[in-house]
Amino acid sequence: MKENISASFDAMTKLKDRLTFARDVNRCREKGLQAHIVLIQPSQLLLVNRTYGVPVGDALIRSIADYLRGLDENYQAYRIANSRFMMIGPACTQEEAEAFACRIQKRFEESWYVSAKEKTCSIAAKAYLVHLLLSPEDSGEDRLIDKMNYAVSLLSGKGSAGMLFFDSTLQQAMEHQEYVLEELRYAIEHKTFQMYYQPIYNCREKRFTSAESLIRLFGRDGAFISPGEFIPMAEDNGLIDDISWIVLEKVCGFLGAHPDLPLRTTSVNLTGQQILDPAFIARIEGLLDTYKLDGNRLRIEITERTVTEDFPEVKRIMEHLEQRGIRFYLDDFGTGYSNLSSMLSLPFEVIKFDQSLIRVMDSTPQGQKTIGLLAEIMHEHRYVIVAEGIETEVQALLAREKELDRIQGYFYAKPLPEDALLAFLQNRDHS
Ligand code: C2E
Ligand code: MG
Ligand code: MG
Repeated sequence: MKENISASFDAMTKLKDRLTFARDVNRCREKGLQAHIVLIQPSQLLLVNRTYGVPVGDALIRSIADYLRGLDENYQAYRIANSRFMMIGPACTQEEAEAFACRIQKRFEESWYVSAKEKTCSIAAKAYLVHLLLSPEDSGEDRLIDKMNYAVSLLSGKGSAGMLFFDSTLQQAMEHQEYVLEELRYAIEHKTFQMYYQPIYNCREKRFTSAESLIRLFGRDGAFISPGEFIPMAEDNGLIDDISWIVLEKVCGFLGAHPDLPLRTTSVNLTGQQILDPAFIARIEGLLDTYKLDGNRLRIEITERTVTEDFPEVKRIMEHLEQRGIRFYLDDFGTGYSNLSSMLSLPFEVIKFDQSLIRVMDSTPQGQKTIGLLAEIMHEHRYVIVAEGIETEVQALLAREKELDRIQGYFYAKPLPEDALLAFLQNRDHS
């Protein structure tokens, strides 16, 4: 690409800046030119700054800038943000594009020798690399940055380095994520989530004594969007708190409206962070009062994954709510790698064995023995055990043989909307 006299530059690296990048991308489109666009984002600049000091971090940025500037005369380099570089090159095949990006990736596998304050350091700086072939039909620079951000979020979920070519599959995945986020925001604003309830079988009493509330989201086009998909997205986008309060309101409303529901308890899924919110206790007590609900009917499920800090404070809040009758379940036990002894220092009433543990039990005699021993230990500590995801008669029999106290799974009952739950419980009572 030719130099342009009206370009603006980044002061530190003397590379062209974000404004110029935006202008050049838009010019490519206007002129009907195809282009190869590469994003290079060093992933550990903060760590370098912390470890070696900011002057070394700055010197590293200048070294990377010099490297990119001299890489290929057909490519223009830009610094569009603190630790974000872009390159624009000519139209090429996907193979040529991959080869060019691989050259950069290889360079980042080697060390950078950086001089600052009369010292030279050898630094291993990892980077995310995303590249795509821009065509004139593509939308503008903002959309391009959205694509790059999406790809970087995928890479950063997997580690501190990696390379992605943004192709049509990735494009579809990004559009799907945008669709889900839009539907989520709409459902939060209009409170259109539905609550389903999955009855849980009590093996000792031989009847259903509890249920778990499970959120359901249907897009405005009627499509079902799974909580396994949108709950993690809500957590990543700061929406989980809003959702949880809608859930609590709906569940408390339902329980309040059915004082004779033949279930002792109904649980809701919350996150460990939410419980730490200073307003949490007052708000949940407010809900109990509004719906004239006895706290004994409500249970809260949290996973080990979301209790990451301040165990003493989580414990204090759990103990406080216990006085109102609300007790806690440890959900998805067997999937986390957190500190088990800290986790079990919290006053849980129930431990829910995740479906993955149930599969272990189902697969080999050794697996059965392991689950049996685990159950013994949990019972010694006076926890009640719920087996999650029981789908077959064999699993149900094994769970009962290993003295798991309660069973949740499609074998006994699927999650049901309110009316279907009421009918299900009534039929069970008569049968
Ligand atoms: P979870 O809390 O562990 O909920 C149990 C999940 O297992 C539910 O999936 C349930 O439908 C499913 N399940 C029950 N029995 C079986 C079975 O026999 N086989 C199989 N394969 N699955 C079974 P669902 O409803 O799709 O929810 C997935 C996850 O999304 C939940 O896992 C929970 O972590 C989250 N979630 C659901 N509702 C809420 C909610 O209201 N708030 C929050 N924060 N998270 C929720
Ligand atoms: Mg749960
Ligand atoms: Mg679970």
